Amino acid sequence: MAYLQQVLFLIVLAIAGYFIRKRVIRIKSNILLGKASVINDHKGDRLKNMMLVAFGQKKMFKRVVPATLHFFIYAGFLIINLEVLEFIIDGLAGTHRIFAPYIGGLYNVLMNFFEFLAIAVLFSCFAFLIRRNITKVPRLQSPELNGWPRLDGNLILSIEIILMFAILTMNASDQILQTRSEHYTATGSLFFSSFLIPLLQNISTPSLEFIERFMWWFHIIGILGFSVYITYSKHLHIFLAFPNTFYARLEPKGQIVNMPVVTREVKSMLGLPTTEVPAGEPGRFGAKDINDLTWTNLMAAYSCTECGRCTSECPANITGKKLSPRKIMMDVRDRMEDVGKSLEKGGAGLNDGKSLLGDYTTKEEINACTSCNACVEACPVMINPLEIILEMRRYVSMEESGAPAQWNSMFQNIETSFAPWKFSPSDRFNWSKEDK
Ligand code: SF4
Ligand code: SF4
Repeated sequence: MAYLQQVLFLIVLAIAGYFIRKRVIRIKSNILLGKASVINDHKGDRLKNMMLVAFGQKKMFKRVVPATLHFFIYAGFLIINLEVLEFIIDGLAGTHRIFAPYIGGLYNVLMNFFEFLAIAVLFSCFAFLIRRNITKVPRLQSPELNGWPRLDGNLILSIEIILMFAILTMNASDQILQTRSEHYTATGSLFFSSFLIPLLQNISTPSLEFIERFMWWFHIIGILGFSVYITYSKHLHIFLAFPNTFYARLEPKGQIVNMPVVTREVKSMLGLPTTEVPAGEPGRFGAKDINDLTWTNLMAAYSCTECGRCTSECPANITGKKLSPRKIMMDVRDRMEDVGKSLEKGGAGLNDGKSLLGDYTTKEEINACTSCNACVEACPVMINPLEIILEMRRYVSMEESGAPAQWNSMFQNIETSFAPWKFSPSDRFNWSKEDK
């Protein structure tokens, strides 16, 4: 009986570990459905990007209010979770506040700091719920957020609020119990949870012990459940923003990646020396499905926070076109998840008769893109939706010859006249003669 709680805790920990491991394996194999791409250059610059953008949240601060609120939640997540370490040791060892006797007065300082962060997280979560549901910030109202994405955003904020209340209630009952039983290690006064003490003061000791234990279990099961939940949610960005910023493109934003096989053909046609590798089997031009994109494109889709900063800056979207770069990233993730689920059940996977282009994203959407890179600049985690859009457009143009008619005549002019307009290259400087 004495070890019952520890055994229960071990079971809960093992169940959470099992589900997290299963999801991590699935997400990894979904990402590896993408094409191989070796990225091992400029490690220093990549590390700098990761530290500044993912860890330091540099790009978030272009919009100060949401950035500050987000920072509180982020800091709370990183720092309050240090307390979870104590929960886990206590749970496994059957101890109570195991660190308190060892670090003395510092324990009180740390607990007060954690409580301050808990209040900041509470405030930020309420503010975000208001922005999403009452003041209705336009970029959080787009149609692609209808259904699960909107519920996901609201759920996660509500769960965080409940978890923060649990920890404050646990601390308040613990403080009262410290005055009634030697079993409860002295923590010193905890500022924010002390406000709850008058509400609990008159409760009997056994009931208070039950409340303290219930909140302890609620908090730790909540955190473990949350860890499983985020692997199904946009909140996966908490972890994947780090590798995503590390592997993000370092080239200037306007630089479009050429296809070596095509570059070689064009150079040979023009009689220029070619350094590109000889054309083997070219494979598919552009991207029809997720396996035509690189693994970094697929990882980016899992890193997307669905914040909509890209869509709110997209000129095509602003002028009422169907394109939303956020939706493109959500489409890639939805397709990956559908293929992954099918593979898990031993189904057809990528050969299910569907594809990213056509069943998830339409030609109307990708054709609306002006290639302006505003979405790439806006993204706080360095995602490049344009790269995916361009690959799909390549597929439509080169594999299906399905580009709009006006584009085809432009392509032809570029091929024959080296300019989008239909006049001879030798006439290109005629305007300068007229100017004399
Ligand atoms: S590059 Fe395309 S998707 Fe991105 S902001 Fe510009 S128009 Fe929109
Ligand atoms: S691509 Fe970037 S900017 Fe766009 S919704 Fe995702 S995280 Fe936000």
